[in-house]
Amino acid sequence: MIGSDMKEAIARLPEGIRERLRQAGRLADESGLDLYLVGGTVRDMLLGRSRKDVDLAVDGDGMGFAGRLARGTGGRCTPHSRFLTATVDLPEGNSLDVATARSETYERPGALPRVAPASMDVDLARRDFTINAMAVSLNGRSFGELVDPFNGLDDLRKRLVRILHDRSFIDDPTRLFRAVRFERRLRFRLERGTAGRFREAVSEGMIGNLSGPRLLEQLKLICVEPDPWPVFNRLERLGALKAIHPALASDSGLETLVREISQSGDLASSTYDGWWILYLVALFRPRRAETLEGVVDRLKPNRRLRKAIEDMSRWSGVEQAVESGEIDTAADFCRAVRTISEDTMLFLSMTHPEDAIRRRCEAYYRHHRHMRLSIDGRTLKELEIPEGPAYGEILDEVLSMKINGEIGTAEEELGAAREIWSRRNNLST
Ligand code: ATP
Repeated sequence: MIGSDMKEAIARLPEGIRERLRQAGRLADESGLDLYLVGGTVRDMLLGRSRKDVDLAVDGDGMGFAGRLARGTGGRCTPHSRFLTATVDLPEGNSLDVATARSETYERPGALPRVAPASMDVDLARRDFTINAMAVSLNGRSFGELVDPFNGLDDLRKRLVRILHDRSFIDDPTRLFRAVRFERRLRFRLERGTAGRFREAVSEGMIGNLSGPRLLEQLKLICVEPDPWPVFNRLERLGALKAIHPALASDSGLETLVREISQSGDLASSTYDGWWILYLVALFRPRRAETLEGVVDRLKPNRRLRKAIEDMSRWSGVEQAVESGEIDTAADFCRAVRTISEDTMLFLSMTHPEDAIRRRCEAYYRHHRHMRLSIDGRTLKELEIPEGPAYGEILDEVLSMKINGEIGTAEEELGAAREIWSRRNNLST
């Protein structure tokens, strides 16, 4: 595919999108603006890879143009003023991301850039890698022409990830993570000079200039790659994991965990949205509590991830109690893990090395935590049990019997409640 005419690549786009791009190009002509496909969209089109996002850039007021495009197509425009971008949701369900071509300047290494409108040349020059610094004109007279000031097409052919200038990783160390993500995803290599600058930036401590949330965002992006392990492994070999925190490592243990998680897809519900958390728990797994605290301090995770990490330490206590026999029945197990996060329990269901414990975690995750009784307080009232704290205790005991598989049907629940009540009554008389 690479090297074939860009027009051919456009011809391969789904017809709906292609027509919309032509329509956008006509609108740009009428508005006297230059409009381009840019960045990852161009890279993936040239590689023949399909993708969800279509990124456009306007040499001029992109947000105003996005508004007109939305009106012209019967779509909806959502502006993101801080980034000089807007999303146009088209009536047929696709969307186009429209940006104002811009410059980015870095006041200090690792800081967020200052953004200002600029020409398309300047916009391409602020990008991360040559393969991401290409544009394709959508205006009528030049429709399909490739703009490639850094020879990105050549690097696509050579399968190289190359920075645009020597300070690139210093200006923005998130590019270190982006470089390895693209390298592994596309099965490219870091170009020699780029690999050299990479190692220098790491050894000079540039990763330390990134804030916790920015760093965590990069780790999260790795976790949503189809195969995160090779990315972690490469980062390890380039010294970038240890630069986040000395305790982080990509070893065969991590490889096994990542594989187990990826292969246990059917365990999680279809709406489960915490895959990235599972991979990060794998990366931060069984470490001493102080180390975990250090990692949490560095990355400032959101509440959900923080709880999943911290619950791994709480789990160790439960595990000991299971091994000593102190926790025995399924109901006891349920009670002990009830406040441990769903993500942590799913992680254990997928990866615990001991079969028996893994099965317990899985039974809890799949079934027991969802178990509810058919009877409730009203039922107990009908049984003429006097209202009071006994209600909670009886229902809790019936639920334990159900979890332990001693009863199943609604009648059995009722019978059990009656029996528990009469036993308590007999005891108290
Ligand atoms: P993906 O396929 O993962 O979405 P992408 O190339 O589209 O990859 P985005 O993060 O969506 O990546 O960014 C879009 C474009 O913006 C990139 O192709 C690149 O040109 C530019 N870009 C993104 N992040 C940076 C950065 N940190 N420094 C410079 N340019 C960047």
